[in-house]
Amino acid sequence: MGLAVTANKGRCAGGHFLHVAFALFLLAVCLVFSPASRADVPLSATSYKMAGDATRMRVVMTFDREPDVKWFLLRGPNRLVIDLPSTRFAINAKDVKPRGLVRDVRYGDLGEGSRLILTGKGPFAIDKLDVLRNDDGNGYRIAIDMSAASEREFDAALANQALTTGSTVSTDKGGRVGTGPISNPGHRFTVVIDPGHGGVDGGAEGLNGTVEKNVTLAFAAELQDKLAAVGNYDVFMTRETDEFLRLDERVRIARQHEADLLISIHADTISLKGIRGATVYTVSDKASDPEAQALADRENLSDQFAGMEIKDDSKEVTDILIDLIRRETHNFSMSFAHTLVGQLSTSVGLINNPQRSAGFKVLKAPDVPSVLVELGYLSNAKDEAQLLSADWRGKAAQSITNAVALFASARAGSGTGG
Ligand code: ZN
Repeated sequence: MGLAVTANKGRCAGGHFLHVAFALFLLAVCLVFSPASRADVPLSATSYKMAGDATRMRVVMTFDREPDVKWFLLRGPNRLVIDLPSTRFAINAKDVKPRGLVRDVRYGDLGEGSRLILTGKGPFAIDKLDVLRNDDGNGYRIAIDMSAASEREFDAALANQALTTGSTVSTDKGGRVGTGPISNPGHRFTVVIDPGHGGVDGGAEGLNGTVEKNVTLAFAAELQDKLAAVGNYDVFMTRETDEFLRLDERVRIARQHEADLLISIHADTISLKGIRGATVYTVSDKASDPEAQALADRENLSDQFAGMEIKDDSKEVTDILIDLIRRETHNFSMSFAHTLVGQLSTSVGLINNPQRSAGFKVLKAPDVPSVLVELGYLSNAKDEAQLLSADWRGKAAQSITNAVALFASARAGSGTGG
């Protein structure tokens, strides 16, 4: 012990001058490089990132120190407003380029503080908004999880916000997820019909030049008329004209309408010209058979026509979506597919094993039972002729309408919320 003290003393005496110099140096460093110690230096926003698609997004903005944030929603258009202390935005312009669920990003100085405004492509829900310390210990970040929702859900969040004076309320995630269509008293059974392809994405082409995007739109219009004629349903189309729509945009539209069913209409080709008949698909992680897998791969390519890369983050987001497809929703999809196959079999030809499954992106709404109907094969001359026949289309649309009626009354009878 004595030895240790002696050694210590010796080092102190010897290094005294150096210690003082180092302390002065540290002080200088602190004054120059630590804005946190100076109240008049604005907060610095150092990066901005958005990942996800039209159904679900994560937005992250990083800061040099902890930001004091207040946030609230505005409608007309649907916006998320985040108020910040006076902030210097040192972020990359290309990172704020609109994408997915966000159609506009604005930020700037208000005189008294700064503001970030995200405008949604439609109504959305804030599932989470947190201020977190960065993992590397340098600075903080705001992390926002948002997802496509209906106008009613957005209004409910607005009303909730009006009741709580503070705008830093955290969202009631349980309430958000549990808000099913049937718990909404004014809600009628709602069907969203999705005519496959459109615009630059023509889809498959028939032996005699029939283009899939036109067949799907004509059939969807017929189905819409038949369903509307029943009088008990609200019926919407994801597109009513020859326009291009990304697959996630189709899912977003279904969620916006709080759809009880999404029916995506297709008529593809297959290399075996002898194969004909209708097929009904539901979503699954693992395809029911190699043909179903190949078809899902082809259909999922539609997004390539968007002219924007579906890159890095989409993998992660896709996986999240698969996890989120709730068992209940999946059971309803399977049950409707089963009913639909039964009804179609009375009026139109079906292929062998007509109820199949694969990883179709357009069927991945977590809370909307969804099926994809391949009406027939444009690679088969007889199927192609049928798809162009108003009489055949009428019969097939009537069968789908009958299946919807059976499914809707079963849902109403079960009395369970979504
Ligand atoms: Zn198709």
